[in-house]
Amino acid sequence: MPTSPVQKLVIVGGGSAGWMTAAAIINATQGNCQVELVESEAIGVVGVGEATIPPIKLFNQSLGIDENHFVRETSGSFKLGIEFVDWSRKGHSYFHPFGTHGADFDRVSLHHWWLKARADGDETPFDEYSMAWQIARAGGFSPPSPDKRLVQSTFDYAYHFDTIAYGQFLRRYAEARGVKRTEGKVVEVEQDAESGDVQAIKLEDGRRVDGEFFIDCTGFFGLLIEQALNTGYEDWTHWLPCDRAVAVPCGSAGDFTPYTRSTAREAGWQWRIPLQHRTGNGYVYSSQFTDPDTATQTLLDNLDGEALAEPRHLRFVTGRRRKFWNRNVVAIGLSAGFMEPLESTSLHLIQSGITRFLALFPTSGDTTLAAREFNRLTVEEYERIRDFIILHYTATTRDDAELWRYVSAMEIPDTLAYKIEHFRQSGRIISEGPELFLNPNWLAVMLGQDIVPEGWDPLLDFRSSVEAKRHLSGLLRVMKDALGPVPTHQAYIDRFCKAEAWNVALAAQCRRI
Ligand SMILES: Cc1cc2nc3c(=O)[nH]c(=O)nc-3n(C[C@H](O)[C@H](O)[C@H](O)COP(=O)(O)OP(=O)(O)OC[C@H]3O[C@@H](n4cnc5c(N)ncnc54)[C@H](O)[C@@H]3O)c2cc1C
Repeated sequence: MPTSPVQKLVIVGGGSAGWMTAAAIINATQGNCQVELVESEAIGVVGVGEATIPPIKLFNQSLGIDENHFVRETSGSFKLGIEFVDWSRKGHSYFHPFGTHGADFDRVSLHHWWLKARADGDETPFDEYSMAWQIARAGGFSPPSPDKRLVQSTFDYAYHFDTIAYGQFLRRYAEARGVKRTEGKVVEVEQDAESGDVQAIKLEDGRRVDGEFFIDCTGFFGLLIEQALNTGYEDWTHWLPCDRAVAVPCGSAGDFTPYTRSTAREAGWQWRIPLQHRTGNGYVYSSQFTDPDTATQTLLDNLDGEALAEPRHLRFVTGRRRKFWNRNVVAIGLSAGFMEPLESTSLHLIQSGITRFLALFPTSGDTTLAAREFNRLTVEEYERIRDFIILHYTATTRDDAELWRYVSAMEIPDTLAYKIEHFRQSGRIISEGPELFLNPNWLAVMLGQDIVPEGWDPLLDFRSSVEAKRHLSGLLRVMKDALGPVPTHQAYIDRFCKAEAWNVALAAQCRRI
């Protein structure tokens, strides 16, 4: 019996998740699927989530969004990676770049050559071989070269942006293509008595919105997926104990870095995200190890400039929904789960959730199998990202505060323990299958967190060390030369994508939860 695609989709929630989903679905269905988005201005949005990772460029490209227009409209800036300060030990920092460190040489990964050179007394830090770090440290930005023979092609980038302006930008995009927006607070979810499927949502003023399929983008409320369908939540607090955040914007200082900074603090870590018109800051902390007043004071004591608003407090539980697709509801965004923002993965998880949803687009027929596949793939993605984030905590040598003593002693998932053991022994990075973070990412964080392998690729011992030394020093020289023509981050933005003042003012008026 032929089935037809679902004709009417209802998205509940208008944060980044809701509007990203609406924009992508209306685009993929060429405006021919009815998409209605219900959101409540009175409730507002979570209003954080300003740092991204490189795949967001693919999301924008799939929507046909011009980069300079996008950065201008969201008061954005460019991000070449994350600087981690005081994570492995106090006084030490490293960079997790987007892209690779140098390039393989004689068919062996650069880091093995670096390990061997290090054993021979070469003290060059591994970060030095990253083109992204070279540019970031110099405060520069220009996009990578498409010519794969050049060292200028070995890095990648993402964006920082004003999250409210981002939502508004996508809303304009989606509404212009036919998404219907309904303002109102959902007070009831109507379910079919027999199947349990959601049939409609009821708004405070009595209106009823029905649909064939529902996407829960209600953030931490999980209005449909949890409050109505009782899907359940897997709590990962024992591995990722941070469960609170306090956030505050401040005036921009001169240091307009093309990267995010994450500084480890006594009971968590602080983010610094430079935008064109302000700097976003927040302290993500564990309520087991400090209290809101101390956390707020720590944050306020460590700002670049004057605070521009009252600090806002947020609570969360790290983990994931037991099912992401349950009956005729898919959870996307914070309603699906949250792993804390250390590696800026939440907006990406929205993006990949949307991609999976489009690949398994529901029909009027039985969707059990599609749901099963959606859940299988999403669980895998969450767990691999979870391991990557835990790595930053477990591989610390800090013992100066309770949080750090806890995380350095805690039991970690077997999948992560296995990966670390391999790296420690041989410098090899093993992977269980497709994952978001690839070998260069794992490598940067493992070495950055001071996990130094005991050995290197044995094939190296059949190759010439003299050649390798020449290669390593040649690489540094080429990178330094490549830095010459790179404009400063500020100059690049001024030239191509400077924000308009009205945009900035509009975003500031929006309500956050
Ligand atoms: C401290 C912190 C820092 C973060 N930093 C980053 C980062 O740097 N990078 C990153 O990728 N991600 C980050 N995130 C995650 C990111 O903020 C979210 O993934 C993103 O904003 C999407 O949120 P959302 O749309 O799911 O939820 P929300 O923004 O909370 O939106 C929920 C929507 O549902 C609506 N709603 C709720 N209940 C009802 C109801 N009853 N009736 C009608 N409407 C309703 C609300 O009005 C709102 O429109 C961070 C999160 C936190 C907590």
